[in-house]
Amino acid sequence: MNAHPTLPEFDYVRPTSFVEASEYLAGNLDARPFLGGTDLFVRLRDGSLTPGYLVDVKRLDGMDELCFDLQSGLTIGAATNMNRVIASADVQNHYPLLAEACRTVASYQLRTRATIAGNICNASPAGDTIGACLLLGARLSIHGVQGMRQEPLNQFFLGPGKTTLKTGDIVTAIHFPIPPVGSAGRYIKLGRTRLGDLSIVGVTAFGYPDASLSSGYRLRLALASVAPVPLLLSQVENLFANGPIKPDSFQEAGRLAAESCSPIDDVRGSARYRKEMVRNLSIKALTDVWEKLST
Ligand SMILES: Cc1cc2nc3c(=O)[nH]c(=O)nc-3n(C[C@H](O)[C@H](O)[C@H](O)COP(=O)(O)OP(=O)(O)OC[C@H]3O[C@@H](n4cnc5c(N)ncnc54)[C@H](O)[C@@H]3O)c2cc1C
Repeated sequence: MNAHPTLPEFDYVRPTSFVEASEYLAGNLDARPFLGGTDLFVRLRDGSLTPGYLVDVKRLDGMDELCFDLQSGLTIGAATNMNRVIASADVQNHYPLLAEACRTVASYQLRTRATIAGNICNASPAGDTIGACLLLGARLSIHGVQGMRQEPLNQFFLGPGKTTLKTGDIVTAIHFPIPPVGSAGRYIKLGRTRLGDLSIVGVTAFGYPDASLSSGYRLRLALASVAPVPLLLSQVENLFANGPIKPDSFQEAGRLAAESCSPIDDVRGSARYRKEMVRNLSIKALTDVWEKLST
């Protein structure tokens, strides 16, 4: 099959069960799973990937599930596209930060294909939805040759394009616990254009009242596009946890964020510019969250 003159040849495989899919992937090292294909097909076309088999896992059982309840929280099947996530009343009511992050990805048209699971498995440091998933405490369900398991997202990323996934592994769903009462979040993406560009810097802030802390509040920060993996900044969390929270705390958090990242120069921005933007946008995102918490 040569579906497009600039695509390499590949065979299309559509397994009917997770067991079949994992075994196929484990038995054919030249095979690759895909969901929306919005990352994968770009990489096929530019020649950076040349798998012999593309394994379509979208239609496997439960992959398009999106369900919420007040005990177990939110489950998003891996093949659920971002527009469905954004349109979900449960996501809007309980996880607005996730909807906000999805809305910044490319265009409406692309989001009818693109999935959060694909964004995560692609493991780009620039993935726009990853910060929200990390701060909302996401866990992944993964089917492998040994069966089903769960992994916390905060241990999943090993480097650009590298994750803990092993041959035969398929991410089947993302789970989110019920967010803490009174929580608020903000995602600020700086791109070269307002639509359709990867981030130069992405800053996600999330906070909630927490009576166990001396400040009374937990405020957390995640950064995209400024290190080999998405960053969670425990220094910033500790700064706010040990409060009191004053106007100076936000300046200090911005300084810590800029100090903690290790951006590179590339076509979208210089390392120096990125650090400055991390400082400014971290202050803004955290201040926005603090204002929401204080009203
Ligand atoms: C024009 C354009 C604009 C874009 N803009 C943005 C943007 O603004 N922000 C952003 O973050 N991204 C952007 N992207 C990248 C892409 O759209 C997103 O990363 C998207 O979320 C990928 O989801 P997908 O379902 O299409 O993944 P796919 O392309 O299907 O898969 C992505 C990767 O994950 C692997 N994979 C897929 N499914 C599984 C699974 N179930 N288990 C294990 N591994 C799996 C694949 O092998 C592949 O390596 C853009 C892409 C394009 C083409």
